[in-house]
Amino acid sequence: MSKKESVIVLGGGVAGLTAAALLAHEGIKVILIESHFQVGGCAGTFKRGEYIFEVGATQLAGLEPGGIHERIFRHLKCSLPEGRILDPACVVHLGDEKPPVNLWYDPKKWKEERQRQFPGSERFWSTCEAIHKNNWLIANRNPVLPVRNFWDFQQLSKALYIENIPIACLAPFSVVDLLRFTGCHQDLRLRKFLDLQLKLYSQEPAHRTAALYGATVLQMSQSPLGLWHLEGSMQKLSDLLMSSFIRDGGQLLLSHRIVRLVKGRDSRLWRLDIIDNKNRQVQMHTSDVICSLPPQSLPELMPPGCGLPIRYLKRLETLSQPSGALVLYAAINRLNLPRNCPTHIQLHSQELGSIFISISQDGDGRAPIGQATVIASAFTTADYWISLNKSQYVTQKEEVLLQILKQLNSSLDIPEDSWLHKELATPQSFARWTRRPKGIVGGLGQTPLSFGPFGLASRTPMTGLWLCGDSIYPGEGTAGVSQSALMACRQLLAARDWGEINLAI
Ligand SMILES: Cc1cc2nc3c(=O)[nH]c(=O)nc-3n(C[C@H](O)[C@H](O)[C@H](O)COP(=O)(O)OP(=O)(O)OC[C@H]3O[C@@H](n4cnc5c(N)ncnc54)[C@H](O)[C@@H]3O)c2cc1C
Repeated sequence: MSKKESVIVLGGGVAGLTAAALLAHEGIKVILIESHFQVGGCAGTFKRGEYIFEVGATQLAGLEPGGIHERIFRHLKCSLPEGRILDPACVVHLGDEKPPVNLWYDPKKWKEERQRQFPGSERFWSTCEAIHKNNWLIANRNPVLPVRNFWDFQQLSKALYIENIPIACLAPFSVVDLLRFTGCHQDLRLRKFLDLQLKLYSQEPAHRTAALYGATVLQMSQSPLGLWHLEGSMQKLSDLLMSSFIRDGGQLLLSHRIVRLVKGRDSRLWRLDIIDNKNRQVQMHTSDVICSLPPQSLPELMPPGCGLPIRYLKRLETLSQPSGALVLYAAINRLNLPRNCPTHIQLHSQELGSIFISISQDGDGRAPIGQATVIASAFTTADYWISLNKSQYVTQKEEVLLQILKQLNSSLDIPEDSWLHKELATPQSFARWTRRPKGIVGGLGQTPLSFGPFGLASRTPMTGLWLCGDSIYPGEGTAGVSQSALMACRQLLAARDWGEINLAI
């Protein structure tokens, strides 16, 4: 392989950073282009005075031995970010008289909890466990999904064994179908719990979440997997990937924004028009581009004449519309929080639906000792927020901020005047911070018609353009996007005959 061959990676969130670090580690000349002045994207952080707030992701999966982040960091010969296991990973309030549901790390304790909370539902949970075990075996063998050519097919067949086939037959079904098959569909409390939890991971409620996807995300909090709280902040994950990338000779261009991506009909090379950090337009050329921007960005980056096939454009235009997020970033004295307050709480609000709350731990680097950062996020429709004029926007924003605070005050018994800091991010803020179109977050919903084999492929119909990120298999979350980055890198290396990335299990 010629060292002169270069790959350009677009976007320095966890997906782009992982792809860039993996390729640089293979000795490839890689340029990473990020529009922000720092890396991390939706898993980055920002500062307000003494506080450090996570923009989006607060819980990390895949850090356990054999988990995707652990395997990638081991491969990169780079130390893992330090973290504490979350136990419970989350406390879910179902808004009834009964005690909230604790997602314990210890599987035995979790089994006792769910038997107490949802009597008679064990058939459902054991079916999920069986599906998950099967999924996990396949995921660790690095399948390529969806399949677009013979090489992809070979990778998928290496990952699938004959015993996986019966479970693969569940592909057309939803989590609610699983409830039905196991005789648990009458349990409305269980249904409410599943709707809340699945919305966090698949953007969809139980009846629209693919059974094969839902069964796995419902097991993420328990040993031997588990969810982690990073020391310092989530930024550590991105910063370590960035250090590995730079150590291996990668070139990071911060405050550089891709504005046009062009593939000439007869050209082997891609042309990238970029606005650099001095606001000048510059051009770069390369044979391969890995794009970690949401695929909804492509029509704007590649208007007619830039080589985007019409059929592919139509495919992009018909992708389901991901959600937007409303996120409150607040700070408080710990004395005003409930005693033994868990770090992660999920509530159901009449007005806002699911509210997911992350509270910093004392001494974890996010707030001075004795204080805590509180981040509370809800889903919203991005289109609505983008369509508001300035004065409507200001009024709506103030209203939602008060709504979320009111919900926190009443659910956690917090005195109204205790907040030391409060601000709200909307889809408009996410569009500014991450440049995601309309501020959409998360990936495409994981419905039976759009997950895994039926999703958008990392291999595009345009030679040399590869996709990764939260709209690509296996989906959103830092662990998911790392897996998608690995898949795109493997496809690129195989297509160019540049070798292989072998991640040890
Ligand atoms: C509120 C919220 C809570 C979440 N909670 C969790 C959680 O607890 N755990 C978890 O694992 N996941 C969580 N997620 C999801 C997780 O954050 C994302 O799935 C993941 O970080 C997405 O990474 P990415 O690299 O695919 O995309 P992004 O993080 O969006 O990265 C894309 C990057 O591309 C850059 N970019 C965009 N346009 C351009 C351009 N034109 N030129 C150059 N650069 C550009 C952006 O600045 C950005 O850095 C949460 C997300 C949100 C919004």
